[in-house]
Amino acid sequence: MSRYIGAVCRMCRRAGEKLYFKGDRCYTEKCGVERRKYPPGQHGQGRGKLSDYGVQLMEKQKVRKPYGLVERQFRRYFFAAEKSKAVTGEVLLQLLECRLDNVIHRMGFSANRRQARQLIVHRHFLVNGKIVNIPSYIVRAEDVIEVKESSRDIPAIQESLDKAEHRGLPAWIETDRANFRGKVSHIPSREEIQLPVREQLIVELYSK
Ligand code: SF4
Repeated sequence: MSRYIGAVCRMCRRAGEKLYFKGDRCYTEKCGVERRKYPPGQHGQGRGKLSDYGVQLMEKQKVRKPYGLVERQFRRYFFAAEKSKAVTGEVLLQLLECRLDNVIHRMGFSANRRQARQLIVHRHFLVNGKIVNIPSYIVRAEDVIEVKESSRDIPAIQESLDKAEHRGLPAWIETDRANFRGKVSHIPSREEIQLPVREQLIVELYSK
């Protein structure tokens, strides 16, 4: 399945906000949004105002791209959220946030979600004691995630853990980094998902 592998900073610059694709670099002054505060491309600085549809589309891209999903996958999450009795936009974000690749990144075991996906596929993680090699696996409250014992000296994991300290930890996750382990204490509420997005606009986009 095709996945965007181009220059990710362009996506942040187009959205006009940090979408945190690159892990630690995103927190430094090397961040593309910090250095060039205008949309990418030759005519980036002369671009006019977006239409209502353009704004809705942009909000969707701001969610879809950071989680590394293609349109078809994203739609599937949306329709699953729509079936729920709770608020569609909130459930959509909760589903995405509870993907295993995202949780592993949030716990600090990988520099970014892309790296988390690779580590998961290579069978380096256990969920509740069993190997899970599916990045889209949806974790539940109380699930315990740990790095497989024989994988604990992988440099990428070690480096990520060292650098993760200053990134902080979401309130819905507990980690025991010394033992390469983390726990999902509860499913995050909307306030706990720090994504600068107006999810209602995504709901409107798909409701047309
Ligand atoms: Fe986005 Fe990170 Fe690149 Fe900054 S460094 S533009 S936040 S991907």
